[in-house]
Amino acid sequence: MKIIRSPQAMTAWSENLRRQGVTIGFVPTMGALHDGHRELIRAARLRCDALVVSIFVNPTQFGPQEDLAKYPRPISRDRALCRKEGVDVCFEPTAEAMYPNGFQTMVTLPTIARRWEGEIRPHHFSGVATVVTKLCGIVRPQVALFGQKDFQQSVLVRQLVKDLNLSIEVVVHPTVREADGLAMSSRNVYLSQEDRKRAVTLYKSLRAGAEVIRRGVTDGKAVQSAMAYVLKKEPAMTIDYLAVCDPSTLEPLCDVTSRVVLLGAVRIGSVRLIDNLLVALPRRSFK
Ligand code: AMP
Repeated sequence: MKIIRSPQAMTAWSENLRRQGVTIGFVPTMGALHDGHRELIRAARLRCDALVVSIFVNPTQFGPQEDLAKYPRPISRDRALCRKEGVDVCFEPTAEAMYPNGFQTMVTLPTIARRWEGEIRPHHFSGVATVVTKLCGIVRPQVALFGQKDFQQSVLVRQLVKDLNLSIEVVVHPTVREADGLAMSSRNVYLSQEDRKRAVTLYKSLRAGAEVIRRGVTDGKAVQSAMAYVLKKEPAMTIDYLAVCDPSTLEPLCDVTSRVVLLGAVRIGSVRLIDNLLVALPRRSFK
């Protein structure tokens, strides 16, 4: 496995392969890789000839009070995982190479970034959209994989790839979970033992929402209350938002008519957790 740090060298590597007709797959990450990333890498492996994983803790997507400085960076372990999974290139640019003096272009998606994570983390999605655009410009993949875990991010990436004519197939991989249902995340290591046990309540609350929809409840507010009811039983957790939304626009739904996404974000101590579930209404039978 090659480790490439310079954006120019990365592009040269990809361009050379593209000229030979090789399909390049790409999994962008911030490192601290876990089994969720591993699954994404494995799914990417099946879709391409050559596979690039980027490890870059992107400063522009962190707010001033957020965990940029303490974000875990176990680079040797990350490289070992990539090597084991047959990754061809680990792309590890520096912040200076990505944002040199004079850098000024930021990519913004005002509508998709307005609500939910975007409301609580005001510059986050502009940072994400900018870095994804830059990384795709550098790596030049034909296919890129993202996790459903970050649902709003996946909607934003699809939109920006379409709006900016990036000629990349975007694949969204289902959320990978711990045995108890907690969505895997690099930030789970911040949880104390006690909070780790409590953390699964977010998933349980989404499941409760899905359950009432399956039982035929279509009122968005009632679904939201069913989710909140579960979370309120765990006083250590505070709710940032619980929402019943249209999966393509992320607008809240008063009335659940077909597919919905249930979005949730909570805090336990200083740790923020997000999760989501896609739910379809019970099928009508067609005669
Ligand atoms: P991150 O390193 O947290 O920026 O994540 C890199 C990619 O992995 C993003 O597309 C995430 O959505 C995805 N990802 C993170 N956690 C999971 C998970 N538990 N299941 C599936 N994909 C994930």
